[in-house]
Amino acid sequence: MPADVTMDKIVSLCKRRGFIFPSSEIYGGLGSCWDYGPMGVELKRNVKNAWWRTIVQERDDVVGIDTSIMMHPAVWKASGHVDSFTDPLVECKSCHLRWRADEIENQKCPQCGGDLTEPRMFNLMFRTFMGPLEETASTVYLRPETAQGIFVNFENVVTTSRKKLPLGIAQIGKSFRNEITPGNFIFRTREFEHMELEYFVKPGTDDGWLDYWVKQRLDWYMSLGITKENLRLRQHGKDELAHYAKDCYDVEYLFPMGWSELEGIANRSDYDLTQHAKHSGKDLSYYDGQDGERYVPYVIEPSAGVDRSVLAFLVDSYHEEVVEGGNRVVLRLHPSLAPMKVAVLPLSRNERLSPLARDVYRRLCSSFMADYDDSQSIGRRYRRQDEIGTPFCVTVDFESLQDNQVTIRERDSLAQIRLPLEELDEALRAKLSGEAFDATTLWATREK
Ligand SMILES: [Zn+2]
Repeated sequence: MPADVTMDKIVSLCKRRGFIFPSSEIYGGLGSCWDYGPMGVELKRNVKNAWWRTIVQERDDVVGIDTSIMMHPAVWKASGHVDSFTDPLVECKSCHLRWRADEIENQKCPQCGGDLTEPRMFNLMFRTFMGPLEETASTVYLRPETAQGIFVNFENVVTTSRKKLPLGIAQIGKSFRNEITPGNFIFRTREFEHMELEYFVKPGTDDGWLDYWVKQRLDWYMSLGITKENLRLRQHGKDELAHYAKDCYDVEYLFPMGWSELEGIANRSDYDLTQHAKHSGKDLSYYDGQDGERYVPYVIEPSAGVDRSVLAFLVDSYHEEVVEGGNRVVLRLHPSLAPMKVAVLPLSRNERLSPLARDVYRRLCSSFMADYDDSQSIGRRYRRQDEIGTPFCVTVDFESLQDNQVTIRERDSLAQIRLPLEELDEALRAKLSGEAFDATTLWATREK
């Protein structure tokens, strides 16, 4: 993270450019809830697509699933969440603010210095009622993780996918945790999105698979442009392991508030399948035809937060620099994550330019997320595209009307080249998938 990136700058950019707004803003907002705007929804979707492509699409040992948010209440009893998914809560006797006891340093209220109550255990699951009458309806929970939807479908998936272990089941979806102290923008929120993989393996091979997935996940963040120096691994101490975990690593990122968890990669052992077998009465063991053995698989779980990944990509790509005497803010997002891949900008709103520029836009928008902007000066429009991380701007000028060529400007180098319209689509496709912008390519050497 460049030294001058503060959370305030990220929050401000997100508001100004339509990435992220406070939820219910016209009513004063709702604590720790955020809405993704037109740019944010694209960025977030691109992050999820990149994960799904790496975890599911490009592997023959992982399949996807999409399970319901509300599940049978017995699931959460079996998983241990009803009894153990708690944080110690203390309340200030003076100002009545509530705090997590394990985050308090000197047993005094951080807000007013008042005395605190004894800690009591507070369950982080949101509860609601299923059915029309509250009195007779059953209590259900909003899931605090997507993992349990995978465990209870283990047998369904193994049977229908005809796959052998090791086998992964992946899911992306909303989770809910009634955090006592949410905060740091979209880092810790009560409603958030999970990207979880449960990778089922033969007991005894689990330690090796944990190492494997730790490396895979670190590589994934770096392959999408996160600076290596801003990532680190932290192994959980025995005293901080979750109730189901045999071993766990956090991938941490250097956020503006300091090193914080980006993703947890846990060895959940056979805890979940064993618990569900016990509580449901169903046999969830697996017959390994190759080894002629029956066993309850161990599970390696890389569990990432979509929202905190989005935040890490924003922070890591944020740069301020001086260009031609002016300040420029630019998001150097990986092209696959950038909300807009290309912007079509007529040099001015001149009526002679608009038809050609519109035509260029129409041609591109079926291939790429493309933006069309003809308001304000060209310089201001470039700045706007820089701030939302658009890798390429295509400018249509008066010369274009004569020679049917357009200018392409690259976001990071600010280099500009000119090329014929009929090559635009193919050239952008190549550049977006990593081909060098200048150097010896066909169109960099073309005469202007
Ligand atoms: Zn207080």
